[in-house]
Amino acid sequence: MSNAPILLTPGPLTTSIRTRQAMLVDWGSWDRDFNQLTASVCEQLLAIIAGSASHHCVPLQGSGTFAVEAAIGTLVPRDGKVLVLINGAYGQRLAKICKVLGRAYSTFETAEDQPTTAADVDRLLAADPTISHVALIHCETSTGILNPLREIAQVVKGHGKRLIIDAMSSFGALPIDAREIPFEALIAASGKCLEGVPGMGFVFAEKAALAAAEGNAHSLAMDLHDQHAYMARTGQWRFTPPTHVVAALHEALQQYNEEGGLPARHQRYADNCKTLLAGMAAIGLRSFLPAEIQAPIIVTFHAPHDARYQFKDFYERVKAKGFILYPGKLTQVETFRVGCIGVVGADGMQAAVNAVADALREMEVLDI
Ligand SMILES: *Cc1c(COP(=O)(O)O)cnc(C)c1O
Repeated sequence: MSNAPILLTPGPLTTSIRTRQAMLVDWGSWDRDFNQLTASVCEQLLAIIAGSASHHCVPLQGSGTFAVEAAIGTLVPRDGKVLVLINGAYGQRLAKICKVLGRAYSTFETAEDQPTTAADVDRLLAADPTISHVALIHCETSTGILNPLREIAQVVKGHGKRLIIDAMSSFGALPIDAREIPFEALIAASGKCLEGVPGMGFVFAEKAALAAAEGNAHSLAMDLHDQHAYMARTGQWRFTPPTHVVAALHEALQQYNEEGGLPARHQRYADNCKTLLAGMAAIGLRSFLPAEIQAPIIVTFHAPHDARYQFKDFYERVKAKGFILYPGKLTQVETFRVGCIGVVGADGMQAAVNAVADALREMEVLDI
């Protein structure tokens, strides 16, 4: 499998051989060894946000969206109201979750290249005292834009409201300290910056809020209060756990710590992003976001203005050279995306830029 393409996508992403090899063992879901594995994963995850005093880590089977839906369904009371901050597709999804779950909500939407500001949130909360929760995407993966979490969290706290953060694509790479940033819930998943395989999400839920959330959930399987209570009592997951995913995440966390934890992971991704931006600029491809609001997670590029450019053709050519890119997610402008995360370094990013340049040359799109 050494010639398998490198995934420059925001999850699933390229994992290490060690992480994949950790899935070669079958585990009994009730077995003590597996329960210890789960407990160790949760403990290590909490350590990344320094949250063991304030928050529980509640893992949940499924993709990241399952965990987001479970967090909203469990923590927002049925008579609560959510202010959803939107500047991309994942923010839209938060609103859709509230709608489907029957939770009252209002939305505040800025352009896809415009972060939500703390001043916006301040004004919106002052105008509507019925809001109980604010839901925010930390890094909006549909463009790669970074929203100002720290400032928004302070404003939400100042109004006595509760913050739910979708940190799916930032957790593990961008610093978030639960002792400094007040939040009721922060959600992430196995298959993003921790470089595990996809299949489980997890929610860091404030202990008191989780304890008070009994009976809020609209769903049995998505009830994080129940999931946590059962796990605290038995050490086991309610319902069949994604055993191989947990084992892979445990191994991925070991490598995360060996690499140097969050600062090292952040630095590698920042270097990847820098190499990518410089390389693409050198072949005439412009990024969609200005550098100040670009998170080092995924970069959106304007497609070349050329009738000979077709994403599908471009994608297939770059794939044949060993790299999987990602389509753009913007409605107004034609773009494509390149992820900076996964088991890849600056050399790999430069090789990806070279593959992009070669593909465009073959398509006679780039005059280089
Ligand atoms: C990946 C991601 C999710 C979860 O998406 P799934 O397809 O359910 O894994 C949610 N929010 C953000 C910001 C993401 O990047």
